[in-house]
Amino acid sequence: MKIHNSMSKSKEEFEPMNSPEVKMYACGITVYDDCHIGHAKQAVTFDIIKRYLTYKGYKVTYVRNYTDVDDKIIARANQLGINALEYSQDRINEVDRVMHLLGVKDPDVMPKASENIENIIEFVSSLIEKGYAYPSERGDVYYSVKSFPGYGKLSKRNPDDMINGVRKDVEEGKKDPLDFALWKSAKEGEISWDSPWGKGRPGWHIECSAMNHRYLGEQIDIHGGGKDLIFPHHENEIAQTEALTGKRFAKYWIHNGLITIDGQKMSKSLGNSLTVKDALAKYNKEVIKYMLMQKHYSSTVDINDAEFLLAEKHMYYFYNTLNEINKILKVIPANSDAVNNEFLDKIEPDFVEAMDDDFNTAEAYANLFAIMKYLNTVIQDKKIEPQTKSNLLNAIKNKIINLYNILSVFEENPEEFIDDLKNKYLTKLNISVNEISDLISQRTEAKQNKDYAKADEIRNELDNKGIVLLDSKDGTVWNIKELQ
Ligand SMILES: [Zn+2]
Repeated sequence: MKIHNSMSKSKEEFEPMNSPEVKMYACGITVYDDCHIGHAKQAVTFDIIKRYLTYKGYKVTYVRNYTDVDDKIIARANQLGINALEYSQDRINEVDRVMHLLGVKDPDVMPKASENIENIIEFVSSLIEKGYAYPSERGDVYYSVKSFPGYGKLSKRNPDDMINGVRKDVEEGKKDPLDFALWKSAKEGEISWDSPWGKGRPGWHIECSAMNHRYLGEQIDIHGGGKDLIFPHHENEIAQTEALTGKRFAKYWIHNGLITIDGQKMSKSLGNSLTVKDALAKYNKEVIKYMLMQKHYSSTVDINDAEFLLAEKHMYYFYNTLNEINKILKVIPANSDAVNNEFLDKIEPDFVEAMDDDFNTAEAYANLFAIMKYLNTVIQDKKIEPQTKSNLLNAIKNKIINLYNILSVFEENPEEFIDDLKNKYLTKLNISVNEISDLISQRTEAKQNKDYAKADEIRNELDNKGIVLLDSKDGTVWNIKELQ
């Protein structure tokens, strides 16, 4: 399989250092506020990557951290008059809660910066000893960027050019404007820990290097995060870790694309930040995950109402198809006869081909549309022998549920999914199932009385309310126009 490596900017054959073991780290959330849809995209992306690698037979150890000490957390906790770690623990609990609601599996290790202070101090001390870092008189410790020759190799920036972009008014004790803080001396009223340089707390970049080192060792296979972390965060992680070990840090760098809202960058200051909690209040978790992953993980996803509606329609179509299959299987259950069908045989190889190509979920979903289309032709097919039909539908259904669970969908009961979505739309359309059933009965009666004008009138009335009718020899069924 191939993975796009941000370091080489090309697709490379995936060969973990110690196959079948895979060590994967993805930068987690700085827990100063509710997590937003951008955090969800990152969490879902690396959850799916782990699920797929596991399916391929790899033994993945996935670490995702919580940054629970930082300027924003301290400021927010001070505002509320509570301890910073008490505040961040509360936010961590909330992040976990919504990630579970979203159906994101927990990584294997979820370490916190505050529980890694000792090994962070050890890491920083070693960097000072090796000449890559220096303490200031005030008790801050800085990384000396110029001392690390490879600086800029991930972001493809040259340190000499970078100098124009940084602030010239160098902070007290900093030798070079490019240098960044590994350890920050404590200000009055801030949470702090004792260190060889006085009371203070770790900088952001060092915590990921230290946690990688502690939980995964000197070298890892995959390092992930959002594209916004390439510079300076990941560049700094490389500088720290490779200075310490003298070895290449991560073999593959995977960066997921970001989120825009109505075409604009999502930001607190623009007031267009969508929290996962708010998204879940409006949309089914699988609709959200489908919207995030129907494009390749590295693409930007634009979030707007039209996209959500489309995602809902697509998921409705998928689940409706599964629901129709279940109805057929209730009448004629599948038996254990072997199913010989070329279409069925191609589903798994096609899925693997798509996902082996840098986890191409867009391609996997394109395949899914073709499968659903085929299933619907089989469902409609009157010529196929009923038992053969049940066996085929059952085999394809089980196959796609198993495979697409890797994409974190089809984990719900189809009937409930359909009912929930229909009810949501009925509330919006301000009509109930009983009202619809009543009107359908009146229309059937009118048709029996050959009062076709009245029958048409009722059909139009429902149509105006957003309900469409479909007549068949078994009676009339209804559906929601917007979902069709
Ligand atoms: Zn990180």
